[in-house]
Amino acid sequence: MAKGQLEFQEEVDAARIENAMWRSWKADGSGDHSGDHSAKTEKLERVRGSIGDSIDFSQIRYPQETRRCRYDDLPTFPVRPNFAGFENALQPASQCVVFDGCPEDPYHPSNTPIYQTSTFVQPSSSEFGPYDYTRSGNPTRTALEKHVAMLEHAAAAFAFSSGMAALHTVTRLLKQGDEILVNEDIYGGMHRLLTQDCAHNGVQVTFVDTTNLTAVAKAITPKTKIIHTESPSNPRMKISDLRKLATLAHQHKVLLSVDSTMMPPVICQPLLLGVDLVVHSATKFFSGHADCTGGLVCVRDPELAHRVAFLQNAEGTALAPFECFLFLRGIKTMWLRVNRAQENTVQIAKALAKHPRIKEVFYPGPGGCSSEALRIHNSQSSGCGCIISFTTGSVSFSRRFLDASRLFKTTVSFGSVNSLGEMPCTMSHASIPAEERTLPADLVRLSVGIEDVRDLLQDLQRALDFASSQKPPPEHDGYDSRFEDLPVVPRPPDEEERPRKSLSEWLLSEVEGPSTSQMLSGVATHVATHVASGLSGLSSWKFSSPSSLSLISLMPLDRRVAVPFFAFSPKESTDRLLDWGGEGPHVLRRPSMEKNRTERGW
Ligand code: PLP
Repeated sequence: MAKGQLEFQEEVDAARIENAMWRSWKADGSGDHSGDHSAKTEKLERVRGSIGDSIDFSQIRYPQETRRCRYDDLPTFPVRPNFAGFENALQPASQCVVFDGCPEDPYHPSNTPIYQTSTFVQPSSSEFGPYDYTRSGNPTRTALEKHVAMLEHAAAAFAFSSGMAALHTVTRLLKQGDEILVNEDIYGGMHRLLTQDCAHNGVQVTFVDTTNLTAVAKAITPKTKIIHTESPSNPRMKISDLRKLATLAHQHKVLLSVDSTMMPPVICQPLLLGVDLVVHSATKFFSGHADCTGGLVCVRDPELAHRVAFLQNAEGTALAPFECFLFLRGIKTMWLRVNRAQENTVQIAKALAKHPRIKEVFYPGPGGCSSEALRIHNSQSSGCGCIISFTTGSVSFSRRFLDASRLFKTTVSFGSVNSLGEMPCTMSHASIPAEERTLPADLVRLSVGIEDVRDLLQDLQRALDFASSQKPPPEHDGYDSRFEDLPVVPRPPDEEERPRKSLSEWLLSEVEGPSTSQMLSGVATHVATHVASGLSGLSSWKFSSPSSLSLISLMPLDRRVAVPFFAFSPKESTDRLLDWGGEGPHVLRRPSMEKNRTERGW
């Protein structure tokens, strides 16, 4: 290495050491509020001893230096307000909307932009700006984390790449030998994380019924560090008394963590009840549109926030800017969505409770739980949420019901604008081994959306009728849900009069004994021309010339001889299947759906 290079390298190394030592000195010397002055001085002396007196710390500047922020592990962690004691004068609906996500942006955008960048240029090598690397901090993420902290009354909130990443971070507060007490009824993914990951890493996992305070008190041991629960629990909708649990936990110097995914902050703010950590799968109500995954950890105590901030950066689990943007957008309508869906939920719960084939309905509303559970729930939240589960007494009845319902689409997850239904044992909670599962196999979980409740009630009635009678539902009943049942689109205006010729007849007459590949290569143009001329009577099908069609494949489907699969390009980007067998052009059932229907016997 040349002499000049060597000197430069040494300078860079010196600057690096200087920075690291400065941070360490700053953390020990100015940020420690523990009050143990002798330990502080000793550490400080040790750091000074190792770096000598020659380094001039005053030359290195950090953004939080003057702001007394305790996130020293992250020199560029953006400073944010502590909302723990904040009393918002606005009503919840307004709190969702009134929020300036980027007060420092020089252009004052009305909406928080997506800062789609991994790095930020620093003022100099000895001076940090507010952000340096998106894993550590990004303005779009700060905006989301601030808004969530405001809604949850948190000292700080942190956004993660999924609900599981957020839950994982909570478990990372534990070390080998520590114990976590967990509610018996819990989301299947959390059960898997605890029993197959945390336990594997030496954390003791004990399940307990957190609705029973005596049982919890008995289960606490000196090793217990966290109690984790959900209220209502997923999917049995059991209610735990969060205030009393928090008091009990704090008596034993244990943290109380609540997965509040089912209770978004517009109806429940567990930190105000004494809970220490609130976790959300933001994938649910924060998104509200089933279009992104994310997780949140909200913390009441700044010291705990310090540790969560460290883990978020050290483990690289933070949420990416684009998703942060989507969640910021989702929050704006959260109050409206949740309130509308709750109104629907109450009516649906009532209708289900009256139905002779429904055994038990579980939800934190009238008729969905004991009066004591309802009293507790109402004392800690302002709504019943949008999730209902129920049993039917028969697994096959529950399955038939779900399969027949059109608007409640068979989907895991919940909290979306559209209604969903699932069977926890085989879907959302399938990761719990059968021998450990305490859920009834016939349990159905519904997530109620914001549709017109009359449609939802009608759909449920239809599905229950079908499940009871086993009769197939009518083919064309006006529901736009399972697309294979849609009528022809577009309908040819002259469908009745137009002379028909099946494509199979045409292929057989024009091409002698072709294999599929020969057809593909040899007759593409003929087919395109033929189809184009066949469709030319349809004014709504736009293509200028046959050459704008490209033939992709010919596939046999069921008894129909051949089905050409066209991409309308470049003008039409939609792939369409055209059936020329029998009755003229139809948008066909997709083969996978056809199989589905056949298997279900519809
Ligand atoms: N917590 C609850 C209550 C859930 O229902 C889920 C997912 O369904 C999660 C956490 C995990 O969230 P994600 O799927 O966003 O990782």
